[in-house]
Amino acid sequence: MAVTETLQSISPTTIVDRNFHLAAERLGLSSEQRKLLKSPFREIKVEVPIRLDDGELKVFNGYRVQHSGARGPAKGGIRFHPSVDIDEVRSLAEAMTWKTALANVPFGGAKGGVDCDPTTMSKSELERVTRKFISRIHNVLGPYRDVPAPDVNTNEQCMAWVLDEFSSRHGYTPACVTGKPLDLGGSQGRRQATGRGTMLVITKYLQDINRSTLGLKIAVQGFGNVGSHAALLLEEKGCHVFAVSDVYGGIVHKNREPLPIREVMEHVRKAGSVIEFPGTEPITNDDLLELDCDVLIPAALECVLTKANAPRLKARIVAEAANLPTTPDADDILERKGITVLPDILTNVGGVVVSYFEWIQNLQQEMWDETRVNSELDRYITRAYREVAELASQARIPFKLAAYQIAVKRVAHAEELRGV
Ligand code: NAD
Repeated sequence: MAVTETLQSISPTTIVDRNFHLAAERLGLSSEQRKLLKSPFREIKVEVPIRLDDGELKVFNGYRVQHSGARGPAKGGIRFHPSVDIDEVRSLAEAMTWKTALANVPFGGAKGGVDCDPTTMSKSELERVTRKFISRIHNVLGPYRDVPAPDVNTNEQCMAWVLDEFSSRHGYTPACVTGKPLDLGGSQGRRQATGRGTMLVITKYLQDINRSTLGLKIAVQGFGNVGSHAALLLEEKGCHVFAVSDVYGGIVHKNREPLPIREVMEHVRKAGSVIEFPGTEPITNDDLLELDCDVLIPAALECVLTKANAPRLKARIVAEAANLPTTPDADDILERKGITVLPDILTNVGGVVVSYFEWIQNLQQEMWDETRVNSELDRYITRAYREVAELASQARIPFKLAAYQIAVKRVAHAEELRGV
């Protein structure tokens, strides 16, 4: 399907639509099947009023979209960001449907968010936003309905408030949310899971092309939960992560040598940003994307690789740790340039896989150790990676199309079995 991208038209919706329709075309799905698969099961918009610390009343908008429950309870993160709106949440919810299907875990897809700006808010204001949002949507959540998790600007603490707010109404229900702190029923390895999955997908691809991880030059946009853990685990494999960034800007090692990732993480913990880490030069987020490197890892937000910057990309591999970071025109340009794109629904699937393990542990009152979590995660990622790589190679199609084809086929089959 031809997509003509203007700067105004770039949105996460354009990306999921194009990926879905390309896969549906290859699967020969009818227009009725496409309509059923594309339309969200449920969409909710709620008012989230809170008092700020200075006494002012602020009214935010909160959204929850449950895209599909065909293969199991809806599953997806909660994001706090000023750009959150119904279109963004809807497309991210749909992407979760394809991701859970590709991972072959028994969930559907959902997403939620509030259009607040946590960079300007205190911890108690964030707590009030989280609790108010959950109080408005709790009746459509639950272990067998819809299970939230962390996403951009939400963390284990927020998930603890989600658990508390939900449980105060429904009784103690640890399986109602994942990504919780360990002391509240969280899983070992969940915090690192998405970054670990990213590392595993990159290393499996490198094995396939007979490339060593040693000295591999890597740049990471977005040094949050996903980006920082992916960087740390890739450093452990001998890769050289020489540039990283966050919302305040980026840093690159003065001599393009590896950054000590644990020390950068500690710097972020103390200073709140990667900027001004000793021995580095500042770099803008835009320039970081165009650095000469082996692997570029976008790990921040959607739509950062566009037709405007794709022609200038010098990376050999793009590993999409963020959701929907590459626009359709950029995908086409990268393919023509011979740059391999490891797609988001595979590269960042580790988070939802370990969320699934957390949900199992909560329902069965079990506690797995980290070795078990990591080895099960490796098993799930290896299977998903192999399925995608084999289809891509057999059909001579990009990894992204192969991943979507597998995922859409599974959900279409589940819908067909259920009937309308
Ligand atoms: P996070 O809030 O922990 O980190 C986000 C990082 O991106 C931060 O360093 C932030 O400063 C930076 N950032 C925000 N806006 C930016 C901008 N405009 N330019 C550059 N950097 C910016 O979030 P996260 O959980 O690490 O999520 C990152 C991405 O990974 C998102 O796309 C998210 O949807 C996706 N994802 C997260 C998980 C998970 O388990 N947390 C799972 C799957 C996918």
